[in-house]
Amino acid sequence: MTLINAINKILGVFPDRWPIPLPASAVIVVALTLSINSWVAFDRAKDFVTENELINLTPKHCQDSTFDYIIVGAGAAGMIVATRLANASRGATILLLEAGGEPSLLNDLPSMDFFLLNQKENTWIYNTTPQAYACGACDDRKSLTTRGRMLGGSTSTNFMMYVRGNREDFNRWQHEDAGGDPQWSYKALLPYFRKSEDYNGAYANRGESYVYHGKGGLLNIATYDYMPGIDQFLNAAREKGYPIGDYNGRDQEVFSPLEVTTQNGFRESTYRAFYRDTGKPYNLCVRKYAHVTKVNFANGNRHGNYAGRPRAVGVTYTRHKKEYTVWVRKEVILSAGVFGSPKLLLLSGVGPAYDLQAMNIPVVMDLPVGHNLQDHTYTIVGPFLKTPSLNPNRDITPQAAASFLLSGSGAIAAPAALAGVGFFRSPYAKPSYADLQVVQLSVALYPELPRDLNRLFGITESLLDSWFYPYHLQNTDARFPVLWLGRPKSVGQLRLASRNPEDNPIIDPQYLKHPEDMEALLHGFKKVVDLYENTRSLNTTIFPKPVPGCENLVFKSDNYYRCVIRQFSGSLYHHVGTCALGKVVDNSLRVKGIDGLRVIDASVIPRTPNGNTQASTIMVGEKGADLVIYGDKGWNGLKEGFYEHEKYNEVDLDNLYSQIKGVHNYKIFNGINDEQYGAGAEKSKVYHDNEKRSEQISYPSFSPSSPHSSEEETEKVLRASVPETSLDSSEEMNTANFKRSPLHLSVHSPEYYYW
Ligand SMILES: Cc1cc2nc3c(=O)[nH]c(=O)nc-3n(C[C@H](O)[C@H](O)[C@H](O)COP(=O)(O)OP(=O)(O)OC[C@H]3O[C@@H](n4cnc5c(N)ncnc54)[C@H](O)[C@@H]3O)c2cc1C
Repeated sequence: MTLINAINKILGVFPDRWPIPLPASAVIVVALTLSINSWVAFDRAKDFVTENELINLTPKHCQDSTFDYIIVGAGAAGMIVATRLANASRGATILLLEAGGEPSLLNDLPSMDFFLLNQKENTWIYNTTPQAYACGACDDRKSLTTRGRMLGGSTSTNFMMYVRGNREDFNRWQHEDAGGDPQWSYKALLPYFRKSEDYNGAYANRGESYVYHGKGGLLNIATYDYMPGIDQFLNAAREKGYPIGDYNGRDQEVFSPLEVTTQNGFRESTYRAFYRDTGKPYNLCVRKYAHVTKVNFANGNRHGNYAGRPRAVGVTYTRHKKEYTVWVRKEVILSAGVFGSPKLLLLSGVGPAYDLQAMNIPVVMDLPVGHNLQDHTYTIVGPFLKTPSLNPNRDITPQAAASFLLSGSGAIAAPAALAGVGFFRSPYAKPSYADLQVVQLSVALYPELPRDLNRLFGITESLLDSWFYPYHLQNTDARFPVLWLGRPKSVGQLRLASRNPEDNPIIDPQYLKHPEDMEALLHGFKKVVDLYENTRSLNTTIFPKPVPGCENLVFKSDNYYRCVIRQFSGSLYHHVGTCALGKVVDNSLRVKGIDGLRVIDASVIPRTPNGNTQASTIMVGEKGADLVIYGDKGWNGLKEGFYEHEKYNEVDLDNLYSQIKGVHNYKIFNGINDEQYGAGAEKSKVYHDNEKRSEQISYPSFSPSSPHSSEEETEKVLRASVPETSLDSSEEMNTANFKRSPLHLSVHSPEYYYW
């Protein structure tokens, strides 16, 4: 403390902002590219040398070719499944195959996220097909999207926002996707959200935070101090009658500062939280730079046709240009993400038979893999010329670096100047079920902004240059509210482009195809303009220059705003649904009709929640790990108190549910609620289309309960179907709570296990 005070005193002599004599934005991009490229080259070379056993530091069993479990992908979900499984089942050997390597130090700095997206050395870069109804201002009308290709997956490159979604989203999973199975209700999933959490956010120890948040978990949830203009934003929301509160708590329809996955100012990826900083289980073998190209099945005949029930027996992967095949005793688990998992299934013969046959891929199982692709469509409202905001050229200073290093605070610890979030409803949403989300991006207009927005969203640089001119050359403070629709009705598809595993799949999200998506966003757009223009706290006006392509429409008319939405719309990196629960995987996340194969990642999320998707994917990782460890009994395991140290107050939750019951007449654990979702009354056309699509394909299904059975019946069926636990019976779970040191740098000890 004395040292920090002394350093602060010395820094106090210098001016508040001590500018770097170069445009920080340009320097960051060049430095980042150079550093990441050289970092990956170094890490890859090190990995190559280790592979040749010159310096072999990995345990001997990691050199085997047969493992109990093989997990593909070390991302948000895969890292959790691998570590939970390894720690719960010490007698089992687990191989985790990851196409990328170690994240660089720059990936750990939250403010770098804005610049990390197109680093081809450690991200997968995708473009959608040209979008007929959206992305008008994007290069070739294609929406740019990326995914992390490194340990931690996209959690090593994302914007770190921790938003779970609306409770009703999960209840819909239960009722509309899982056939009423109670283990997929919000009530049954909340403990899994809580399980990973060490909640130190804005609402810690306040109100009902003990009901909704976990303490002592491995993933730190925090807030941060650098949110330019947050007070104005929240006060404006208050003026408009919106409550301020915890959007991961009881009611989602609130405005709030943001909560993120960081630890003492550093990015908290699942790699850091569950593996690197908290112990590396001896029985978990992590193989980096291992690109899996195929899942191999038994029971096929020599013509490649599959008779009988196929079983996954291993995978083939390439690493440093050599091909390997490894075998599995129990299960292959795909956690390769929303694009990686379906691509791998399709390459291996699991997918729509018609498409596979057209590509000469022998059909192992006819399933709607790749259908049901969903994503949040963003639009940009504004900009509004308003101070304060972040201008990287002005605000990334030596002082900012010092406050980051000394206290994990300031501009460098903040993700992309995100300064506040709000949830509200369009006329298409039901009461208490917000469907719109706005995030205030407090970024100034600076000369390199068109290039940076091009890297972020694929919006054409020259179009932005002409639109912002001359304000960006004059370094004008501004806010860009980014608005998105939480439950879009437009649904797209992913298909193989070729049989070459190196080729990207064809991604067609069909953004804004459903007319209600446009109208819901239009409603939100006008609400956000109203928030900025008609409140004392913000009191500003929308950017005076019309958006290129919309100049001929009456400025600020509905049609003008519709045009702006069509121009500025595309991916928010929140894709889900390509191996959806209920359609491709059963309620235990096993691929339907196949033994020894599960999918556990964002691709199983059957409908996008009204929130950024890492929190729900992390929850799916926790839930999936339990399903593997305890069999179908996974959720009952929770009820029976396996996680005594994480026990939440069930009574409170029951009370809470009786209140929800009041609003929705909800019949908890009692099948589909006809009033809300039944008899087609409120179902969207797209939902019917999806149903029809999946009905055309017949595949064996696993149904733990009939949708109209009572709670008791459901439990009876579930209990009867529970196989012996797959956890080694000799292994006792040690549920002692793992306490992390508050000091970020003191928790790297590899022998520090948390079970
Ligand atoms: C730029 C960006 C910003 C985002 N911002 C946010 C945010 O602020 N908040 C939020 O909640 N969500 C955000 N998200 C979304 C969130 O990160 C994802 O929903 C989540 O990480 C998905 O987890 P996953 O486990 O399904 O896949 P991933 O985390 O993407 O992990 C998949 C892993 O599998 C590996 N893999 C893929 N194919 C293969 C193969 N064939 N062989 C071996 N390994 C393979 C990949 O390299 C990767 O490591 C963002 C995403 C991105 C890309």
